[in-house]
Amino acid sequence: MEAIRLWACPSCHRVLRERSVDEVQRRHEELVREQCGTNPSAEFVAEAMWPAYLASFRRCRCGSRKRLKPVSAAAMRGQLDLHLDPVVVQ
Ligand SMILES: [Zn+2]
Repeated sequence: MEAIRLWACPSCHRVLRERSVDEVQRRHEELVREQCGTNPSAEFVAEAMWPAYLASFRRCRCGSRKRLKPVSAAAMRGQLDLHLDPVVVQ
């Protein structure tokens, strides 16, 4: 199993789960497919929207630009769930 890395937002104390750029990109492509279907412009749309989409994962949903703090996964044991907000820290 892949190690889970967690980060905490210093402003709102929300815990975020780190995702790789690849994961986020796959999700983005799925989203565009859902929205555009087989429309030939889908690829163009995906490319145009990707930078903003990725940028939205680079910080907490509260909009804080403060540096996220690492959280030890051990400290969070028992509270882990899949509903943690995703974040890309790279
Ligand atoms: Zn926050």
